[in-house]
Amino acid sequence: TPILLWYRRDLRLSDHPALDAAARAGRPVIPVFIRDGVVDAYGAAPKWRLGEGLAALDASLRDVGSRLTYRSGRALDVLRDLIADTGATSVWWTRGYDPDMRDRDTNVKAALKEDGIDAKSFGGHLMFEPWTSETKTGGFYKVYTPFWKSNRDRDVDAPLAAPSRIPAPDTWPDSEALDDWRLGAAMNRGAEVVARHANVGERAASSRLGAFIAHGIDGYDTNRDLPWKDGTSNLSENLALGEISPHTCWHAGQRAMQDGKAGAETFLKELVWREFAYHLVYHTPRIVSGNWREDWDAFPWNTDERKAEVKAWKRGRTGIRFVDAGMREMYVTGRMHNRARMIVASYLTKHLLTHWQVGQKWFEDCLIDWDPASNAMGWQWSAGSGPDATPYFRVFNPVTQLDKFDKDRAYVGRWLAEPYSKKAPEALSYFDAIPRSWNMSPDDDYPQPVVAADEGRKRALNAYEKRDF
Ligand code: FAD
Repeated sequence: TPILLWYRRDLRLSDHPALDAAARAGRPVIPVFIRDGVVDAYGAAPKWRLGEGLAALDASLRDVGSRLTYRSGRALDVLRDLIADTGATSVWWTRGYDPDMRDRDTNVKAALKEDGIDAKSFGGHLMFEPWTSETKTGGFYKVYTPFWKSNRDRDVDAPLAAPSRIPAPDTWPDSEALDDWRLGAAMNRGAEVVARHANVGERAASSRLGAFIAHGIDGYDTNRDLPWKDGTSNLSENLALGEISPHTCWHAGQRAMQDGKAGAETFLKELVWREFAYHLVYHTPRIVSGNWREDWDAFPWNTDERKAEVKAWKRGRTGIRFVDAGMREMYVTGRMHNRARMIVASYLTKHLLTHWQVGQKWFEDCLIDWDPASNAMGWQWSAGSGPDATPYFRVFNPVTQLDKFDKDRAYVGRWLAEPYSKKAPEALSYFDAIPRSWNMSPDDDYPQPVVAADEGRKRALNAYEKRDF
């Protein structure tokens, strides 16, 4: 009898424990993707990027005699329909950890088991299952450094090879057409602009890792902080959708470390930040939906997204160059350098006293590497409301940060048009991407800061000191 292999955010064939087990079981395997409420709730860019990833996965499956069956509806109903259509007796999948996936999967598993189906979840999305890292007192970690120390010497499973052939059923169940789902419909910016910067699919992810190990990892520890340099792995969009496994990245990083590459350990540490984000989400799911430190509920955040300064932040028109460059980079490429993410998040939550959830939501709409755990952790870290957060009174100065990390203005020059007479192609491409209703032109005057660096710092500290929480 067939095995239904339910794909979700694990769009790969190699190092995929559920697929590996299914392909070895000597039974037909039916890979399926379900567009359900969890997927429908994604923001515009993650949804578009998912569609690209699914097409690539389907192509890879076809190379080994298989294919992806697309269905939409409530996950449990769809799986039951497929069981009825195919006679499958097993439903296997890769475990997810964010609250939306967990709630759904727990219900699906219980219901299928009651139906007598072998419903089983496998690891693969993380190197360290969140319940396997415990502090000395038996709790979970709230601070990164001890989490890193407790995990860095653990054995990480060696990556599994992709199956060379996946056993097919005699007949394939009916499938909807991916194109009919129009997963890019909510991109009111030109998806084709973002597409030029995306690196879609398992094969592309693997070559990206290879290139990074060969040319990038050596100086990674110093280059990773320079937003104008292509100094990081750029693997986040692939890791977010499971087009590459963290195990594969980890082992490549370990080999680079043995080869004496200077930045290798820092790279391993970053991979563990991703694990830490999931560790926090697993143990305190509310981190994605509210202040991790609940005393922050009383902070007088602005939550009005229609406010002119919030609009200016989203559109890269705050008059603060580091902030605006970051926001535009994200709009055009679907990604943003980590240094810029920290600066724009600090500016929104501190200078503009705006709730981090406004930023979290906008990132979710714009990022092709959107990840529910890393995004929530990054925002709460920046706002000061999370565990292991930067203290609220430590306010990034977006002007002096520029002198430190973009001395020659290469980054802001690449992404901003208005303040410069020589306009870079990337800066101009922003104007092809934005909706017409934003009414912006590369020839506009560059705005005065909506809130200047020093003034914003004072405002933030004032609000913080007056807090009655
Ligand atoms: P590299 O520097 O090459 O690092 C390798 C991998 O390690 C990354 O691909 C990523 O998977 C992981 N990693 C690195 N830094 C972090 C970090 N700080 N937290 C968690 N994982 C990390 N990352 C996302 O993947 N998705 C998000 O939605 C996201 N939102 C963020 C929001 C804010 C406000 C902040 C401050 C950070 C956010 N990050 C997010 C983390 C980080 O900015 C990106 O992972 C990183 O910029 C990706 O670039 P890279 O792949 O070249 O990373």
